[in-house]
Amino acid sequence: MKIYVTKTFLPSIEEYKAQLERIWESRWITNRGILVKELEQKLRDYLGVKNILLVNNGTIALQIAIKSLELKGEIITTPFSYVATVSSIVWENCKPVFVDIEEEYLSIDENKIEEKITKSTCAILATHVYGNPCNVKIIEKIAKQYNLKVIYDAAHCFGVKYEGSSILNWGDVSTLSFHATKLFHTGEGGAIVSKEDELANKIFYHHNFGHKGEEDFWGLGINGKMSELNAAMGLALLPYMDRILSERKRVFESYNKNLRDLPLKKLKIREGTEWNFSYYPVLFDSEDSLLKVKKNLNENDIFPRRYFYPSLNKLPYLNNCRLPIAEDISKRILCLPLSAELGDSEVEFICNLIYDALC
Ligand SMILES: *Cc1c(COP(=O)(O)O)cnc(C)c1O
Repeated sequence: MKIYVTKTFLPSIEEYKAQLERIWESRWITNRGILVKELEQKLRDYLGVKNILLVNNGTIALQIAIKSLELKGEIITTPFSYVATVSSIVWENCKPVFVDIEEEYLSIDENKIEEKITKSTCAILATHVYGNPCNVKIIEKIAKQYNLKVIYDAAHCFGVKYEGSSILNWGDVSTLSFHATKLFHTGEGGAIVSKEDELANKIFYHHNFGHKGEEDFWGLGINGKMSELNAAMGLALLPYMDRILSERKRVFESYNKNLRDLPLKKLKIREGTEWNFSYYPVLFDSEDSLLKVKKNLNENDIFPRRYFYPSLNKLPYLNNCRLPIAEDISKRILCLPLSAELGDSEVEFICNLIYDALC
């Protein structure tokens, strides 16, 4: 049995069918049917946010966020994230300006943001990488001082709380991904969380072709709608979330125990965070050690992933700049398999293979 970096959690097929039957009854497959609306309401409550709109993936969520805030010019961002964070900026005809990451938390280094601000800077787009919150307070202060918008790529943040409330409540907009590899998923899917109602309306129009009723148009739009088929998965999965989170915590602790004696650096979670155990990254002393471990795991049908490699300043469509910390860390970091269904004996097996490769 192959073990991948994650294993998509599925509800029982009966539970999924029960949701599908509602679609067969209504004969309404997309265009904001009852399932999408119900999932939106349930997520609003579960996550503790004011405005949430379901969309068809986490990348369109970022693109609509940039469009809705009318961003033009330079957007300060992080090199240590999934490619979609930065490709969305370029896709929306803005220019990504990288700020290096902080060594312990691995999110954008808030102390290096100000030196990159120019007359053309319009926003900060940062990722709460591995669900570990950015320094949102300092970023908010900087944004206020320089009149910048803030978008958080919160693709890894399902269920994360910071100082008692949802991390999604920070920034002008936060975006989520419900891709099959994420903690909570709808196969493909995503969501946009926003604080101000006026902005939420704009986001809504943008995600539905700009339609205002059948024959009128509010303005420009795109098709970002989630289908009922995807919402059905979300509705069937949502009741499992507490169990999924506690199982992931078990796996996380099992790794901690089994890797105790190895010289591997772990992610430091920001104080005040109720984390979601979304990833298990380990930092090796060198890329060489990482490659040795990866090889040994792969030979035993275990497939960790190099999240996130390469550092995004190396993308072929960007002018490369030097970012010593992100470049160094992205070469040495590996995410180990983590899912609700990973057994303690499997964790032990993986850790023994790591041990064998290193010692
Ligand atoms: C998964 C992911 C995305 C993209 O989400 P999709 O739903 O696959 O489009 C964006 N940003 C980050 C950080 C991600 O991990």
